[in-house]
Amino acid sequence: MTTMSTTTAKADTSLGSIILTAAFGLAIMFAAGFAQAEIIHGAQHDMRHAIGFPCH
Ligand SMILES: [Zn+2]
Repeated sequence: MTTMSTTTAKADTSLGSIILTAAFGLAIMFAAGFAQAEIIHGAQHDMRHAIGFPCH
């Protein structure tokens, strides 16, 4: 008995998924930036300082 296995590793790199992922990332970034919740805003602010981004 022969077992033939075909592995097809197809990376989903279509333009649509790239745009969707970028849009999703931007949405999260803006949601955090304009969030009213102090915790989310504070966490984003801390992250900004952690990566050395000048903010004030
Ligand atoms: Zn700051």
